[in-house]
Amino acid sequence: MLSQLPQEVLNDFHEDSNFRVSLDDCEPGQGRKVLMPDLSPQGTSRCVVLKPRLEQCSDAFACYIVAHEFAHAYLRNGGWGEFTCREAAADALAETWGWPKQPYEWLDW
Ligand SMILES: [Zn+2]
Repeated sequence: MLSQLPQEVLNDFHEDSNFRVSLDDCEPGQGRKVLMPDLSPQGTSRCVVLKPRLEQCSDAFACYIVAHEFAHAYLRNGGWGEFTCREAAADALAETWGWPKQPYEWLDW
């Protein structure tokens, strides 16, 4: 999937030591642990946290979620062009990468 991202996006991630992809280690009744890098001097982090339950989803939905989260990271949780809503911006950018929004497979996502 990563290889399908535009080169400028891959370069942006590779050049930012604050960019990480982590797995959400959640155990029911035990809480969750997510390893994240220290904040940058600017106080920001670009950590994409993925839930293990993505393994149980359809490929289309899992790829959409990952692409959506990568889009947030690329946009630094901001808007994109005419999209001032960051969620709409992430969906629109992910769609240009080939992963359009999919119906949610769980209501409590
Ligand atoms: Zn989002």
